[in-house]
Amino acid sequence: VITLAIESSCDETSVAVIRDGRQVMSNIISTQMDEHKKFGGVVPEVASRRHIENIQGVVQESLDEAGVTFGDIDIVGVTYGAGLVGALLVGLSTAKAISFALGVPLVGVNHIEGHICANFIAHEELEPPFACLVVSGGHTHMVEVRGYGDYNVLGMTRDDAAGEAFDKLARAIGLGYPGGSKIDRAAKLGDRNAIDFPRAYLEKGSYDFSFSGLKSAALNYLNSKKMKKEDISIEDVSASYQEAIVDVLAERSIRACLEKGYKTLAIAGGVAANSRLRERLEGDAKVHGINVKYPPIELCTDNAAMIGCAAYYDYIGGKVSSLDLNAVPGLRIGERE
Ligand code: ATP
Ligand code: MG
Ligand code: FE
Repeated sequence: VITLAIESSCDETSVAVIRDGRQVMSNIISTQMDEHKKFGGVVPEVASRRHIENIQGVVQESLDEAGVTFGDIDIVGVTYGAGLVGALLVGLSTAKAISFALGVPLVGVNHIEGHICANFIAHEELEPPFACLVVSGGHTHMVEVRGYGDYNVLGMTRDDAAGEAFDKLARAIGLGYPGGSKIDRAAKLGDRNAIDFPRAYLEKGSYDFSFSGLKSAALNYLNSKKMKKEDISIEDVSASYQEAIVDVLAERSIRACLEKGYKTLAIAGGVAANSRLRERLEGDAKVHGINVKYPPIELCTDNAAMIGCAAYYDYIGGKVSSLDLNAVPGLRIGERE
């Protein structure tokens, strides 16, 4: 089965060609990051316009690189949520047009389920069941992957997402957008015990997350330093802040594996690129005989290959979409249109 997959939920226009769910024949990612940088975040209207300009070229490039033509495509997978509505609609309209013209099935994909599926591409031996920590720019979920396309959410963030927390600190200390990778880099030179930032473990037994208290604590710390005209160490603030996030993510992840009996823990989403998170999870998991899996960095952040993988397993599971499929900006894991 050859899948043409389209992703346009945020600021990446991406198109991939995937064979049998896991074999990446091409994965073209056209990012608009530089354009949004000057605004300190993604501007939805700008994103939609750029997707419109880019999409056709990226589709052609993806087919060319894969060495296939439209005639070889068996199904069309596309992100229909969660994401920015205008941005989603560009990919969705394109996918519908291709599906209709070729007379092949359309498969609407949940973007967050796509992030999880990036692990199937990266690890050919990986099969459900396993526990998965999803940490992206807009989502933070502790998930049980019970089977292909079968997800159970154990907990999620009550306020900010982990990636958002990274991006907000980066903006406050002048590292710019997107901040996660910059904080990761600065933290390597800092002392993670320098500042005692709060960890929100919430009620006993909870798998939920909360990062807004940490964000406020960091902003208060920065303000009080400024008032006292004291120097701020960007490296120490980054390392201490990152550690506060990683501590909570690691506690939830390891506990999910132990309480639910999983021997494999996968991580997914942009924050899965974080070097300290990977290091901590690998260390903590080893003690309990748990395997940790994560995708290479280019499959952690937004890309269409992961959408193609999710589309394949949805298709195999009989979940195809009709041509009146609409974009769902707030789509949740496990939810269908
Ligand atoms: P969502 O998938 O929730 O809709 P998104 O698609 O914008 O959001 P992703 O592309 O999955 O998010 O990830 C982007 C996020 O990952 C940003 O918040 C970015 O700061 C964060 N990120 C990227 N690299 C790192 C890193 N090395 N350490 C921490 N965070 C990182
Ligand atoms: Mg992005
Ligand atoms: Fe994403």
